[in-house]
Amino acid sequence: MKGWDYSPALESTSHVEIKKRYELYINGEWVKPASKKYFKTINPANEEVLAEVAHANEKDVDKAVKAARKAYDEVWSKISPAERAKYIFRIARLMQERSREFAVVESLDAGKTIRESRDVDVPLACNHFFYHAGWADKLEFAFPNRKIESIGVAGQIIPWNFPLLMAAWKIAPALATGNTVVLKPAETTPLTALKLAEIIHDSGLPPGVVNIVTGYGDTGAAIVNHKDVDKIAFTGSTGVGKIIQKAIAGTNKKATLELGGKSANIIMDDAPIDQAVEGVINGIFFNQGHVCCAGSRLFIQEGVVDTVIEKLKHRMKSLIVGNPLDKNTDIGAINSKEQLDIINGYLKIGEKEGAEMYQSPCDLPSSGYYCPPTLVMNLAQSSRLVQEEIFGPVLAIQTFRTIDEVIQKANNTPYGLAAGVWTDKGSRIFNLTTKLRAGVIWANTYNKFDPTSPFGGYKESGFGREGGLHGLEGYLKMN
Ligand code: NAP
Ligand code: MG
Repeated sequence: MKGWDYSPALESTSHVEIKKRYELYINGEWVKPASKKYFKTINPANEEVLAEVAHANEKDVDKAVKAARKAYDEVWSKISPAERAKYIFRIARLMQERSREFAVVESLDAGKTIRESRDVDVPLACNHFFYHAGWADKLEFAFPNRKIESIGVAGQIIPWNFPLLMAAWKIAPALATGNTVVLKPAETTPLTALKLAEIIHDSGLPPGVVNIVTGYGDTGAAIVNHKDVDKIAFTGSTGVGKIIQKAIAGTNKKATLELGGKSANIIMDDAPIDQAVEGVINGIFFNQGHVCCAGSRLFIQEGVVDTVIEKLKHRMKSLIVGNPLDKNTDIGAINSKEQLDIINGYLKIGEKEGAEMYQSPCDLPSSGYYCPPTLVMNLAQSSRLVQEEIFGPVLAIQTFRTIDEVIQKANNTPYGLAAGVWTDKGSRIFNLTTKLRAGVIWANTYNKFDPTSPFGGYKESGFGREGGLHGLEGYLKMN
């Protein structure tokens, strides 16, 4: 049986202008790339081309870094912190005014549902600018009795799962702490960062303080390897994080790396089961599972296993997979063909290993990249589906008897980004949160974000924190 049929409720795209071609935003101007090359960004929901975007090479990156250095030396490090705050506040307001446009462009370029881009990505991105505008002139109170200084030029490289939000996580704290920026969005999702450049331009921010260069991994590598970049802030895969760490070893560059995850959601036998099931669904199927801290492993305590799995399957039947711009849609498009191939590759491995699989029965659109929500069960702890990040709507289910057992199993991956605990007992929450090796642990909720709360990982999930007071430290020299 499938879920209910709903009449389509499409968000309008008529108020959105996407240019045919985007240049690089360097030193307050739109400039053609020295490479003379452009690449296409598509809508993964229907494979239509949205725009052509400049591919920055080393020369372009050098131009952007020089602009950022000049802006740092001559303007941004000299103006008062209260002045910096005004610009950041203005960027937040301008983004809020254009929030509908940002939400639609994000859904078009990334394939994420309009409900999420409208209710999560864009408001949180605005809030990051508002929050950091507040810090700019209060840094001395954040770190009392310490001498603090900005670092200089920050090179920032972001992934495709939360394109605008990741740009906000990077740019807002860098500006608040007095640094200038060269930012590269991911190749499949450059449009909202380019729209953000338009807003930054309209805000009157001095030229060169923020530069946006688009391109592939080679553009990111050119930023990482540029001699005059003082700090690298990277969010992306653990593989590329390791390359970056090697590249900057022995240099003076500071770095914060936010990498992959394989986070555990744990349901104890005393948990409020209906709420827990809803939280698990949100934890893994939110944003097509393209969430670094997705609750991609579910641990269910014996005694409630059958109930939880039955309720999960029941709830999955009512999830709607399809057009991201339809307000009814729960699960949108997978971000790219490459990512869909990776996810399907893991499902094949599961099949070979003899895992039990459940996919909710749903009609998928005929073009575009889609994957139905999937449960995989009966897996060995060593299975690649249990150990590796799939970055798609695939939930690996395991069971446990005792608390010690679940702590051991939950900690037994190379990652340590997030975890979730579902129980009625506060003492169990305290016990688990002190023993789980994860940067963020949610109790009786999942995937909740706030600019005031630091986010970041343990082990191969990276180091450094973003957001909150702790997030400011990564952009400051302290004595
Ligand atoms: P990715 O392949 O590591 O790419 C991230 C960014 O790095 C992209 O802009 C990419 O450019 C660029 N890049 C690629 N190769 C590079 C190199 N050699 N040097 C410098 N930059 C390079 O990751 P992704 O596939 O886009 O994103 C998914 C990953 O991000 C997942 O593992 C997820 O867990 C992680 N993630 C982590 C967090 C967190 O906060 N911990 C948040 C979100 C996502 P191209 O796009 O052109 O390849
Ligand atoms: Mg795209």
